[in-house]
Amino acid sequence: MKGIIMIIDGMGDRPLKELGYKTPLEAANTPNMDKLAEIGINGIMDPIRPGIRAGSDTSHISILGYDPYEVYTGRGPFEAAGIGLEVIAGDIAFRCNFSTQDENGIITDRRAGRIREGTEKISESINNLKLEGFEDIEIIFKESTGHRAVLVLRGEGISDKVSDSDPKNEGKPPKEVISLDDSQEAQKTAQILNKFVETSYELLKDHPVNLKRIEKGENPANVILPRGVGAVPNLVPFSEKYGLKAACIAETGLIKGIGKIAGMNLIEVEGATGGTDTNLENITKSIKNTAEDDNCEFILINIDGADEAGHDGQMEEKVKFIEKVDTVISEIMQIDDVYFILTADHSTPISVMDHTGDPVPIIIKGPEVRVDDVNKFSERAAVSGGLCRIRGSDVMNILMDLMNKSEKFGA
Ligand code: ZN
Ligand code: ZN
Repeated sequence: MKGIIMIIDGMGDRPLKELGYKTPLEAANTPNMDKLAEIGINGIMDPIRPGIRAGSDTSHISILGYDPYEVYTGRGPFEAAGIGLEVIAGDIAFRCNFSTQDENGIITDRRAGRIREGTEKISESINNLKLEGFEDIEIIFKESTGHRAVLVLRGEGISDKVSDSDPKNEGKPPKEVISLDDSQEAQKTAQILNKFVETSYELLKDHPVNLKRIEKGENPANVILPRGVGAVPNLVPFSEKYGLKAACIAETGLIKGIGKIAGMNLIEVEGATGGTDTNLENITKSIKNTAEDDNCEFILINIDGADEAGHDGQMEEKVKFIEKVDTVISEIMQIDDVYFILTADHSTPISVMDHTGDPVPIIIKGPEVRVDDVNKFSERAAVSGGLCRIRGSDVMNILMDLMNKSEKFGA
C-alpha cells in the first residue's frame, strides 16, 4: 500500500460575484475530481490552524507532520535546498536578488534588467568567497532562475536573527543589515552580510558579463541583495519518522526544498516550470512512473499554477487551470493499492491576490475509507463530508492509520 498526497497550490478561493457567487473550483468543470469525491471521504482542512494565512512552505511542513512554529524560520533554507545546494542543519540561508547599483551606491534596478543569462558566470566569482575578517565562514552562492539566487553561510557563531538588505524600492541604497537581537552571533552575521553586499559590488562592477550588458544598454547585475533569512532546521527525515520511502514531485524551488530537507527523493520533471503553462502531461507520466517504483511508498506532489493565477487575480485562468489539473486526476485515480489524498495548501482568493486562512477541501480515496455522501469537489460540498474539519497536521496521522502503519497509543 502506498500513499500519495497531491497538493494543488492555492486552489481554495472565496465566492466571486462574477461567477454567480461560486468559487473558481465550484465554477470549474471537474468530472474527475467530483468522481474522486464520490468514491472517497471528504472534509475541509485548515493547513495550520483556522484563520492562519499559511505560506506554501509552512503549510507543506504542517501537512508532512512537522511543526512549522518549531522548524520554520524563513524560506531561505528551502530555496537553497530546492536548487540543489546540500545544506546542513545550522546553515544560515538567504534568497538573493541580482540587482543594479550606480556609482553613488543607489539601487537603480532591483532585478538587474530581469537578467536571464550569465548569472552562472557571475555566481562563480561569488561562490567560495572569503570575506576579510570572517575567513572562518564558508560562503556558498548559487544562481536560481532569472534575477534570483541563494546564499548560504556556514560556520560557527552565526545567527538567523538579522534583517534584509533589499531596500524593496529603487532609488535607495542597499538597506544596512542589522541584528534583530542582542546576541554576538546576530551582530557578527549582520557584519558579514553588510560586508558581503559591499564586496559583491566590488567584485561584480567590472565583471565581463556586466561589461557586456552595459555595452548592450542593459542593467548590470553588479550587486547582490540577500533577504528571506532562515536557519536550516534539523528535521527528522520523513523516512525515519514514518518508515516510508518518499519521493517529491514539485515545480517550485520552495517545495522541492522542503522535500529535500525532509530527505525525500526529488523527481525532476521536464517542462514542469510552475505557473499555468506547465507541462501537466510530463508531470502525470512522472507520477505514474514513480508510483510503479517498488522503492517508493509515498509521493508528495505539488502543482503550482492555481496559486499563480490567484496571485495575479486571473479568475478565468484559475478556473481553466483547475480544469486542466482535473485530467491529471483521472490518471492518478487508476493507480491501484494506494491511498490518494487530494487537497490544497491554502486558499489564494482572486479577490485578495494573496493567501488567506480560508480552509481548503480534502478528499481521501482508498480501499478502506468510509465513503460519504459528498459527490462534488469544492470548498462548500466538502463541509458535509465524513472527515469533517481537520488540520494539516492531522493528515499524516490519518494516512498512516488507514495504511495500518500506525502504532497504538496506550494498551
Ligand atoms: Zn502554496
Ligand atoms: Zn502563493
